[in-house]
Amino acid sequence: MLEPLRLIIQDVNNAPNIRSALNIVVSRVCETLQSEVCSIYIVDDTAHQLVLMATQGLNPKAVGVLHLNFDEGIVGLIARREEPINLDDAPNHPNFHYLPEASEEKFHAFLGVPIIHQRKVLGVLVVQQKLPRKFSQEEETFLITLSAQLSGVIASAQQRESFLEHQVIRKVEGIAAAPGVALGQAVVFFPPTDIWAVPDKKAGNIDYEMLRLDKALQLARDEISAMKERMADALGKDELSLFDAYLNILKPNGLAKDVKQQIQKGHWAPGALRRAVAKHVRVFDSMEDEYFRERSTDLVDLARRVLSHLEKEQSSRPKFDTPKILVSEEITASMLAEFPARNILALVSMRGSPTSHAAILAKALGIPAVTGFENVPIARFNDQTLIVDGYQGTLYVSPNEQLISHYTQLIEEEKALSKSFEKDAHIPCKTTDGFSFPLMVNVGLLADFEQSLLVGADGVGLYRTEIPFLLREQFPSEDEQVKIYRSALKSFNDLPVTFRMLDIGGDKQLPYFPIVEENPFLGWRGIRVTLDHPEIFLIQARAIFKAAQHHPNIRITLPMISSVKEVDDSLLLLRQAYHEVANELENYKTPFPEIGIILEVPSAIYQLAEILQRIQFVSVGSNDLAQYLLAVDRNNTRVSNLYSNYHPALLRAIAKISEECEKQNKPKFVCGEMAGDPLAAIILLGLGFDS
Ligand code: PEP
Ligand code: MG
Repeated sequence: MLEPLRLIIQDVNNAPNIRSALNIVVSRVCETLQSEVCSIYIVDDTAHQLVLMATQGLNPKAVGVLHLNFDEGIVGLIARREEPINLDDAPNHPNFHYLPEASEEKFHAFLGVPIIHQRKVLGVLVVQQKLPRKFSQEEETFLITLSAQLSGVIASAQQRESFLEHQVIRKVEGIAAAPGVALGQAVVFFPPTDIWAVPDKKAGNIDYEMLRLDKALQLARDEISAMKERMADALGKDELSLFDAYLNILKPNGLAKDVKQQIQKGHWAPGALRRAVAKHVRVFDSMEDEYFRERSTDLVDLARRVLSHLEKEQSSRPKFDTPKILVSEEITASMLAEFPARNILALVSMRGSPTSHAAILAKALGIPAVTGFENVPIARFNDQTLIVDGYQGTLYVSPNEQLISHYTQLIEEEKALSKSFEKDAHIPCKTTDGFSFPLMVNVGLLADFEQSLLVGADGVGLYRTEIPFLLREQFPSEDEQVKIYRSALKSFNDLPVTFRMLDIGGDKQLPYFPIVEENPFLGWRGIRVTLDHPEIFLIQARAIFKAAQHHPNIRITLPMISSVKEVDDSLLLLRQAYHEVANELENYKTPFPEIGIILEVPSAIYQLAEILQRIQFVSVGSNDLAQYLLAVDRNNTRVSNLYSNYHPALLRAIAKISEECEKQNKPKFVCGEMAGDPLAAIILLGLGFDS
């Protein structure tokens, strides 16, 4: 029955709306099971009733009219009990409820299964037959499987279609991409030029097509350069290098080369552009890698820009002369740079991940962002009032007065809190009984460094060194890394900076070093990669030691440590790099720094006694520790309700880490997001953590 099931789901997914999807299901189920009746009842949440929404075999006039309470009939019983009921003679069942409007008295055989999505009953799927007989086990499992697949379709259609009826306030759960809260009017921006809609045409004059392509490319390059200049104040050198990557793509020997080949073959310039881009996108998309999919988005975005010049169109860009919320199918880094950052209150993107360039830039610019609204018709949001909650990943559309006043208050409180922090930043972090509990920050982009100084941090608890690696086209050289690290150290005026050795893999993929795995979070990640590539490890370590020549206040941490041997191997490489640098540079006086581990793999907790004999401190990476301890993918919205900083198992594990460190008198810190949660920070202080 696998094939009919697959075909039904395929047709359901292609249906234009939920009504026709349900009609497809009832008619195809009758056909497959040779049953006389198939009906679907859907829960009406406001009336708390089940409504007949589609049927084959019962009176079609009852559709939308027949309502059942949850305590009525066998259908109500299935919804209440949340389990299937299979009967050979339904009218004899004590719960049988005669429904004159459905004319169902003549049917005896009955099989009904609940339709459940994320623990919530959405409806009931029923098949019936005149002759008394029990439906077979196989028929029952067929219906259960179909209902499980149908539930997702119904849930997303309900979300989508309640928007169409609209004007009700809606809360939509997405993915948090950049923290913060915003309330404002939405501006929906769809790039005007659809590259995929460009038709094929023969070039009238090949020279002319070449000429106008060159002109369009030049105009696109000018735009990107202007954007880069506009962003120069807001972003560090590192993030700006993204725009250089874009410029490279638009250079004569980049994408243009392929487009020109197509023109030579006789295609007009817009068609040649579409063909060349399609070829590249096919390659990127076939790589099944999130990072490459992001790159293909960048490429299409650039091609649209070139096309808009080819079409001599002025693209209809929305005006951002007052602060608004930018909404789009997919927000790209260049789109973000196109509008004045001070007037973008927040970003809402249908697609895209928290690791996308746009999300990285949004964080650097302090703009809240949410993403992951695949089934939501966001084009309808134009001019509507939205609330964006970038902490929870939640979006509210047309919120009521109550919500608006709640969030207005939150936004005011956030502002007041930031102000008061700025005012109090100089006060040392000490408890009233005199315990010093320094506040350190996590940084990645150069822009973060400036912000961190503003908040009066006592130093950097975690420098995610992979971020500058992510924004490049190839591994940065030793010299380049020295420059990046030196400017980071400089901007912190000799406050302590904790460098984390490159932590790639998992959800952090380098565009030029793809790691394709079934299970990337359990795969080649962090120290596992760099120990397998000592040349990458050594170059980075040498760069850190060189940068520290005149700024010796550094510490180094090792990510993803799961065994004692990984600590020993890393220490060996770190010492080798240190001695090389000390011999190479004249007058090198910086001492070998304190080395610690990021404690984020549970196995390290049970080897901590041995590990601590080799290192000077421990920094708990609670983001990953929670993920591995609770077996909850930190990026999966479906299980995000199971991810908690307050899970007793996590707190016990953290308490044990603290005890082990105390036994050997070694300092312990927390660098995961948990430390930024005020309540959790108090618990950590109570558990004996040092910063
Ligand atoms: C962590 O895992 O807690 C951590 C600090 O590192 P990252 O979030 O970069 O994995
Ligand atoms: Mg981690």
